[in-house]
Amino acid sequence: MSIDNQLREKICNLNIDLQRYGLVAWTSGNVSERMADGKSFLIKPSGVMYEDLTPAQMILCDLDGNVLEGDLAPSSDTQTHAYIYRHMNHVNGVVHTHSNYATAWAAIQKPIPCGITAMADEFGGDIPLGPFALIGNEDIGKGIVETLRGHRSAAVLMKNHGVFTIGKDAKAAVKAAVMCEDVAKTMWIAHTLGTIEKIAEKDIDALYSRYQNIYGQKGEGK
Ligand SMILES: [Zn+2]
Repeated sequence: MSIDNQLREKICNLNIDLQRYGLVAWTSGNVSERMADGKSFLIKPSGVMYEDLTPAQMILCDLDGNVLEGDLAPSSDTQTHAYIYRHMNHVNGVVHTHSNYATAWAAIQKPIPCGITAMADEFGGDIPLGPFALIGNEDIGKGIVETLRGHRSAAVLMKNHGVFTIGKDAKAAVKAAVMCEDVAKTMWIAHTLGTIEKIAEKDIDALYSRYQNIYGQKGEGK
């Protein structure tokens, strides 16, 4: 399948959004989206400066991470994105960053506790902590999928590494990455001020359900 330029432009712009929202440094971070055929995804090339990214550089890969279309090497996290798409059918967008506050929680090896309503709304509870894994095989993907399965959170902190987020499309995954960093910052400040008091489970459930089902304009992407 050949990918039209509009899709390439969309994924290119969502990658640039990572820099716009201050979630990445230099060339780190990546966004991908699963294509309509379900069997391929478009991802950022490896090691290209955000300032130099163009739609034509986006790489089309199959779900084993093999390049189908594109002249450059795909992101070094391509195998992880591929693993997530292979094992989570409802996921059509994946984002990876080393955003500062969220990654600080990963460095102290702690999930982000659900101490503010914005976390209950967006993530339905704590942002969980996944295992430590080295890049280069399936371990990171496996750790992400195993941690997120049975969890409402669209974000996971990978121990001593950074953040992966998922969504129904790439934009939703980018939103989860932005919100994850925002709440990580607030909870970090709270952590320095005293003991974080978590919201009661039943209240988290009520907040999550309201935000996911009622909040916003009809038909508007959240
Ligand atoms: Zn990374």
